[in-house]
Amino acid sequence: MTLFGRVDRIDAEPDGSLHLIDYKTGSHDDEVDARQLRLYAIMAEASLGKPVTRLSFWYLDDGKTWTTEFTDEWRSSSRAELMAAIDEMEQVSDFPATIGVHCGHCPYLHACAEREEIARRRKAEGW
Ligand code: SF4
Repeated sequence: MTLFGRVDRIDAEPDGSLHLIDYKTGSHDDEVDARQLRLYAIMAEASLGKPVTRLSFWYLDDGKTWTTEFTDEWRSSSRAELMAAIDEMEQVSDFPATIGVHCGHCPYLHACAEREEIARRRKAEGW
């Protein structure tokens, strides 16, 4: 399984470990959800070969930050969560089409197996 991600910023800590920073715009969430940052940490460690020790959100509107340590406990639970998600994705073999307004601009509409249903819905729903 190949994973891709793009973290906003990676700083080097004085001890050589890495600090991942995600820039945020808009208001602060009541509860911080750092799952994405923890997945980035696993990917960064695998691709850069250095430990990640800190994770931060940097709120650009007011300059405040939220920071947490990336502990061994987080590392192993995030890895387990990632592997469970991969296992679940590998079980999926049915990918039903999601028909909607976007179909009207789809370059594959002419070859889409759903084009008759799309035509019916476009007529009925006026899109
Ligand atoms: S037209 Fe077909 S292939 Fe294109 S977005 Fe709609 S369902 Fe998907």
